[in-house]
Amino acid sequence: MSELQDARNNLEDALKAIDKENHFERLKNHERTLETNISIEKDSGEEKVFKAFRSQHSTLRGPGKGGIRFSPRVSEDEVKALSLWMSLKTAVADIPYGGAKGGVIVDPNELSESEEKRLSKEYINSISEFIGPNKDVPAPDMNTGAKHMAWMMDEYSKIEGETTPGVITGKPIEAFGSEGRAEATGYGAVYVIEKIIEEKGLEDQDLTAAVQGFGNAAEPAVEKLEEIGVDVVAVSDSGGATNKMEGFSYEELTECKRENGSVCKIGKDISNEQLLTLDVDFLVPAAIEGVINEENAEDIQADYIVEIANGPTTRKADKILEKRDVKMIPDILANSGGVTASYYEWVQNKSGEYWDKQKVLKKLRNNIQKAYKQFREVKESEDVYGRDAAYIMAARKLTNALEARQ
Ligand code: NAD
Repeated sequence: MSELQDARNNLEDALKAIDKENHFERLKNHERTLETNISIEKDSGEEKVFKAFRSQHSTLRGPGKGGIRFSPRVSEDEVKALSLWMSLKTAVADIPYGGAKGGVIVDPNELSESEEKRLSKEYINSISEFIGPNKDVPAPDMNTGAKHMAWMMDEYSKIEGETTPGVITGKPIEAFGSEGRAEATGYGAVYVIEKIIEEKGLEDQDLTAAVQGFGNAAEPAVEKLEEIGVDVVAVSDSGGATNKMEGFSYEELTECKRENGSVCKIGKDISNEQLLTLDVDFLVPAAIEGVINEENAEDIQADYIVEIANGPTTRKADKILEKRDVKMIPDILANSGGVTASYYEWVQNKSGEYWDKQKVLKKLRNNIQKAYKQFREVKESEDVYGRDAAYIMAARKLTNALEARQ
């Protein structure tokens, strides 16, 4: 079953739980999805065509919002699932945005920097009528980062004939970005972990975490986990995983990655699959979709799964994990720090007043910990699994907006 189907089924369950099933037909469907074919000239002079998408699930609560992914795995279904999750996430984080997502089917490893730049600009050219500061505001996602956002903003500004920083977030500081945006997704997830530790009185215990992925979102999470005293005993990337039960330091991991371009095997060499089943307090999937599924859900030994990746756990796995009492902090809550800081960047772009990092991170911490508190309240009052509690929170906000506007 696809991620999109899983997301729709979870949404339907949440709408049933709040007696708003009548809105399912409207909310399961996307407002619009654009498919484009973009062509760029390779450095060799050869022309190459790439299929790309931008999907807006909902603009009920504000402009569409969601990242742009460069990956060979991109598909219309994947973009639509991610777009729907964005509507739910912005609702859980209680920021005035809807949900959208985009992607290009490409293996960025096969492109030179100048080809990537041409692809970024052409992508924006092909979707320019679809996006805008008050319509749909893209951001980085897998394999895209601040430099791509700067290229994209530049292209959009040329089309509009004026500098338009509010069209995209996740930009570099030098090009209207926000302090704290780069760290926000990873830090946000750890602000939630901080709250769990406080709530459960675990401060004096030796706590451990295993983190799958070591990219834009995972790296700052590892940094923050170390800061709050949780030992990161395993990390990985697409090339494999490494494990040391005494814990890695953030510095040794990043230094080694800087030299080698990937996670180094400085501990015991293990597979990504083994990383997921380590006996840790917090399992933090921060790479790709569907890695926790019906095949390995029985083997998960972590107490908590804190989902930084979008959709790392399948619906079938959720059912098994719920029975096994593995606590779930779902993606639409755990990784909402990124979109929250993106919102702060957009507010700064619109107002022209820029904040320091301390202010951004303080606001982010308050916001995500408030969302976590509401999540706990829904979880207890409805007596449901973590995923369902977050979906119920989001479904309430979306249906309230829908009814208020009708
Ligand atoms: P990234 O491209 O910077 O990093 C991805 C990491 O995952 C890399 O270390 C890569 O090697 C690793 N990886 C890829 N395939 C893997 C595999 N099969 N097994 C193990 N590791 C693998 O991407 P990112 O921005 O860090 O995004 C990671 C996840 O977090 C995605 O699901 C993304 O949608 C989600 N997310 C990111 C942000 C953000 O602000 N960056 C915000 C919300 C959600």
